[in-house]
Amino acid sequence: MAMNLINKINNVKSRIKKTAASCGRGHESIHLVVVSKTKSAQMVEEAINAGAKDLGENYIQEADKKIKALSQYPVSWHFIGHLQKNKAKYAVKLFDLIHTVDKIKLALELDKHAKKTGKIQNILIQVNIGKETLKSGVDEKDAENLIKEISHLRNLSIKGLMAIPPYFDDPEKTRPYFKALFDLKTLINKKTIPNVFLSELSMGMTNDYTIAVEEGSTLVRVGTAIFGKRD
Ligand SMILES: *Cc1c(COP(=O)(O)O)cnc(C)c1O
Repeated sequence: MAMNLINKINNVKSRIKKTAASCGRGHESIHLVVVSKTKSAQMVEEAINAGAKDLGENYIQEADKKIKALSQYPVSWHFIGHLQKNKAKYAVKLFDLIHTVDKIKLALELDKHAKKTGKIQNILIQVNIGKETLKSGVDEKDAENLIKEISHLRNLSIKGLMAIPPYFDDPEKTRPYFKALFDLKTLINKKTIPNVFLSELSMGMTNDYTIAVEEGSTLVRVGTAIFGKRD
């Protein structure tokens, strides 16, 4: 089992490296976030021992148990699920980077709790890049305004953008969405908003992470390719 995880993680890492090399990117700027939702603390521990340094979780309660059980490991925890305002306090306590901030009210709540604990909370802005009615994320056209508003909150630091494009069996079809997120990052950086420089792009999952790397991803979020199918 553990050997299997080492192979799987190394395989994803080496595909990231190869892809980065093939398009002239340094792989040091690309981080593999191992998505461990629904997996036991023991499985996550095995993944850490197999070389996982960044872990992604979707549910606060589930993550709380695992993060506490594995607190001796010097890994980074990423929140990648939908975050409700009433869980903001726990998200600030538990996570190094919150990928899914898409509303000013949520940002205000995160800022409030970060201030209480004397933390500068790193966040990403989730963009609904596919304009899907049921998906979380700020609309592309509203992203700049949201970022401007959040830039005034002293205990939040906006590191970049995140998106979950529509799913296609053919990963090539996600390429335009990754390009759009990259272009939005470039556009917003050109506006030179005080306190804002976007360096991170959280995009790419099991089915399409090599395409995402080609299009500038710095955080690929991979679960299935490492742990197998979720129940
Ligand atoms: C579950 C999840 C992933 C991992 O997806 P896989 O296809 O299993 O790699 C990535 N990002 C988010 C936001 C997720 O919820």
